[in-house]
Amino acid sequence: MSKIDYTRAVKYFLLIDIWTGFKLGFKYFFSRKTTLNYPHEKGELSPRFRGEHALRRYPNGEERCIACKLCEAICPAQAITIDAEPRGDGSRRTTRYDIDMTKCIYCGFCQEACPVDAIVEGPNFEFSTETREELFYDKEKLLANGDRWESEIAKNLEMDAPYR
Ligand code: SF4
Ligand code: SF4
Repeated sequence: MSKIDYTRAVKYFLLIDIWTGFKLGFKYFFSRKTTLNYPHEKGELSPRFRGEHALRRYPNGEERCIACKLCEAICPAQAITIDAEPRGDGSRRTTRYDIDMTKCIYCGFCQEACPVDAIVEGPNFEFSTETREELFYDKEKLLANGDRWESEIAKNLEMDAPYR
């Protein structure tokens, strides 16, 4: 004849597991929430966050990029393609600046290599697309990103400057 496990029987009878579950539920009901109701709520981003790429301009509207191609050379994914030629005034500027965002691994090397803070990875992480082709960025798109996010990018670079 099998022996009766009284401890287990009392636990069943008093619904101990149910009350333990209620206790845990109440604890988390009143504690501070760690989840966000995205996209209506968004979390804080580090100034070093590496999001969508952008090409920046100087305040007078001139492109920062001097077509040195350091970003193209350092990119481990070979995602950047640059063509360049001198302008009439002798300055060197890109005629083509493409990034294949489907190849990019968001390592940030292009930003690190740039001597004039022209190519940066901005704070935008909401740039998913429906087609692959939309992720082939050209210079126009990158400059438009720069114009759109300039204030946030400049603020982030300033905050990060003491640590560089
Ligand atoms: S973040 Fe890295 S992989 Fe992406 S374009 Fe820049 S260097 Fe290339
Ligand atoms: S974005 Fe910067 S690193 Fe790349 S070509 Fe232009 S100036 Fe050089």
